[in-house]
Amino acid sequence: MIRNTTLSLFIAFALGACAQKQTSADNNTASGSASGQNTIEKIEKSESEWKAILSPEVYHIMREQGTERAFTGPYVDNHEAGIYLCAACQLPLFDAATKFESGTGWPSFYAPINDQNVGEHTDSSYGMVRTEVVCNRCEGHLGHVFDDGPKPTGLRFCINGNALQFEHE
Ligand SMILES: [Zn+2]
Repeated sequence: MIRNTTLSLFIAFALGACAQKQTSADNNTASGSASGQNTIEKIEKSESEWKAILSPEVYHIMREQGTERAFTGPYVDNHEAGIYLCAACQLPLFDAATKFESGTGWPSFYAPINDQNVGEHTDSSYGMVRTEVVCNRCEGHLGHVFDDGPKPTGLRFCINGNALQFEHE
């Protein structure tokens, strides 16, 4: 009973948060493919299909919610202008303009490229409640988002470099 009440409160909060986000849902994006649409057409593949496409390390991170060791993935020190795409389906996810030095050893951003392409799920693994960040097209795991980021959002998207693919501007 207590669990149900908690869940209801969570859903109510989540719906409220979504409602507040509506004003920013129409911002322009570099992709252009999602303009005028609120939902992205999903890419669905079997785990064996993903395994055939992705390297073992990328497969582990994106399909098994893995985490690369700090400072071992690509793009931690990349300061070039451009767009970071999903390593699995190449959907634009982050603009290099929002990348900042977090000192964590993982590429860090203070905002996603838009609200449609990047999704969030509650992650209760390892005895912690964290917010998982996923690609909204292929549901690939990207990393987690925390609320200790810099201005203007105060968010820190802590992303596995192996889940990203950089495209120069
Ligand atoms: Zn993707």
